Amino acid sequence: MACQGAPNGRGNATGAGADDVGSAVKAHFVLVPLMYQGHVIPAVDTALLLATHGALASVVVTPSNAARIRPTVDLARRSGLPIRLVELPLDCAAEGLPEGADDVDKIPPDLAPNYFRALALLAEPLERHLRAHPPYPTCIVSDFCHPWTVQVAANLNVPRLNFFSMCAFSLLCQHNVERYNSYDGVADDNEPVVVPGVEKRIEVTRAQAPGFFRAPGFEKLADEIEQAQGEADGAVVNSFLEMEPEYVAGYAAARKMKVWTIGPVSLYHQHAATLAKRGNTTTAIDADECLRWLEGKEPDTVLYVSFGSIVHADPKQVIELGLGLEGSGHPFVWVLKNPAQYGEDVREFLQDLEERVAGRGMLVRGWSPQVLILNHAAVGGFVTHCGWNSTMEAIAAGLPVVTWPHFSDQFLNEKLAVEVLGIGVSIGIKEPLMWMSKKEIVVGREVVEAAVRSIMDEGEEGNERRRKALALSEKARTAVQKGGSSLGNLLDLIKHFEVDVGGCTTN
Ligand code: UDP
Repeated sequence: MACQGAPNGRGNATGAGADDVGSAVKAHFVLVPLMYQGHVIPAVDTALLLATHGALASVVVTPSNAARIRPTVDLARRSGLPIRLVELPLDCAAEGLPEGADDVDKIPPDLAPNYFRALALLAEPLERHLRAHPPYPTCIVSDFCHPWTVQVAANLNVPRLNFFSMCAFSLLCQHNVERYNSYDGVADDNEPVVVPGVEKRIEVTRAQAPGFFRAPGFEKLADEIEQAQGEADGAVVNSFLEMEPEYVAGYAAARKMKVWTIGPVSLYHQHAATLAKRGNTTTAIDADECLRWLEGKEPDTVLYVSFGSIVHADPKQVIELGLGLEGSGHPFVWVLKNPAQYGEDVREFLQDLEERVAGRGMLVRGWSPQVLILNHAAVGGFVTHCGWNSTMEAIAAGLPVVTWPHFSDQFLNEKLAVEVLGIGVSIGIKEPLMWMSKKEIVVGREVVEAAVRSIMDEGEEGNERRRKALALSEKARTAVQKGGSSLGNLLDLIKHFEVDVGGCTTN
């Protein structure tokens, strides 16, 4: 089919590889997520959204991640959406990683810096792939953790946007404490400072918000990330304007760039079948079984407990949390990422607990269909580590949260939920636990019980939090519908980069 060809002599938008997308596309976005589930999942949702509105979206992933998302992408392609999976193997040996360690679950924690260096080696194969598979890209939408995509975009002579599955509040607070050197002169990493340049008084410590990748072994990467953030041609953010207008405007002004808030991207999924498989085809529990279990519960009574895709708690803390959930008296669904990694004592404890709370508590050992569960009428609250996806998904579902941050932007996300939006109760963590927490009991069972009662019980404060959460959910849903801010931004984003491929047919 006819195509006007790529502009600027940068290649040809027809030919080999162009026959896999059935209709004309308006632009070609190349999404390069960080290869962690908390980054891949929102990138895939964003690709699906772009494709739904007529742009071609290519998602670049390593083989382990490709295996998890291929069914979702294939289903979308079969329904005619212009979306592609670009699978690029990681050269693990080049950076001293074990063979096939292209996924965080397979990487020894002390080799994390090597993983990031190995990811940077994808630059050359990615550029080669994009040149060989038309249509020519119109824009690289790169996870902010990939500064190496700056060179790819420059070589291809296309713009590069930063992709954040983060809220503008956290981005702006982090940016401002660094820009105004707020930590200079603090006695130690736990001394609170007031975040400058934001209207509301927010206090944070260097331990809680040190800056992205400001950790031993990552010094060079952290500097490169900061530079790449500042030099991007714009930012795509999984948030919505009505939730945090002053922070979106503040971040755009501070960075002097256009910010497209297009979330909550999880709301792309409206059907149980795709929700159940979101992020991972292999769930530890059958979605129907899970829904049947929830069907038997009263509305708003079940607590969902999960710490995301990478956190692994200390064994003693696991037991204490379990006892707290049991003691709270509330029904719960508790997700344990990888209980097989614990010793006999924890495994036995979990089995006994399951027997004691049979019918009231359900344990999911592995991957859970999180968004499906959160949106069930029986679910009334969420104990979360405040990963931004989980926080955004709780907000989209209209749920109050117990906040239990571990690391990264999670402390700032907690502050947004508790102090700004008024939908959260803090469990009281002050210092980072990191993802492989070696700290034993940080939160006692009584504290868990009290926090659970606080968000689930129907006192005045609890009702107020629930009312605020529901109001936010309404706004989130409005934002992604026709006439809403997020859908408007998505369409604007496509329009902004439309010119390059405009009119090109790809079949
Ligand atoms: N998730 C899921 N099932 C699980 C664990 C996680 O569906 O058992 C999804 C969750 O819905 C969210 C993502 O994985 O979309 C986790 O991202 P988040 O930012 O909350 O935390 P991270 O895993 O990055 O720490």
